[in-house]
Amino acid sequence: MKPAVILDWLLAGFMGLLLPFSSFVASAIASDPSYIRHCFKTTAKAAGHLHGQVKSRAFSRYLLYGSVAPTKPEKVVGQCTHCGNCCLHRSCIYLDWSTSGESRCLIYSQPFWKKLACGRYPENRRDIDLYACPSFSSEAAKEGAPESTSP
Ligand code: SF4
Repeated sequence: MKPAVILDWLLAGFMGLLLPFSSFVASAIASDPSYIRHCFKTTAKAAGHLHGQVKSRAFSRYLLYGSVAPTKPEKVVGQCTHCGNCCLHRSCIYLDWSTSGESRCLIYSQPFWKKLACGRYPENRRDIDLYACPSFSSEAAKEGAPESTSP
């Protein structure tokens, strides 16, 4: 088993121990007491969130960020169409939907969000493939050009 997979499962196990406190944690991060008011629903969503984190290897990708060199220079192009796939395969506890069916993040641009990998997505072809993003693509970068373009 790869070390990154072991890391993901170890951290997921630790996070699983915190599930009973998830409504308080989610509420504090989002500054929204409704997560506590609906604590059973929040705990169920937190379990789904944790599953999404394991499925997307969120822990290891975050911790090992920058340590895996791209095989070849690439440039990411496109524009988000808000399908919600990259929100932990639509299981993020902070994912919400507009009336027109577009994904939106309930903690978008907040200090905590800025520390996550969300704001960097998608960085490369692997990211795009991971969530089957329908809107971004990866091109070979020209010599001397930046390796990726932020969405
Ligand atoms: S997967 Fe792509 S299109 Fe869908 S929300 Fe994420 S960036 Fe936007």
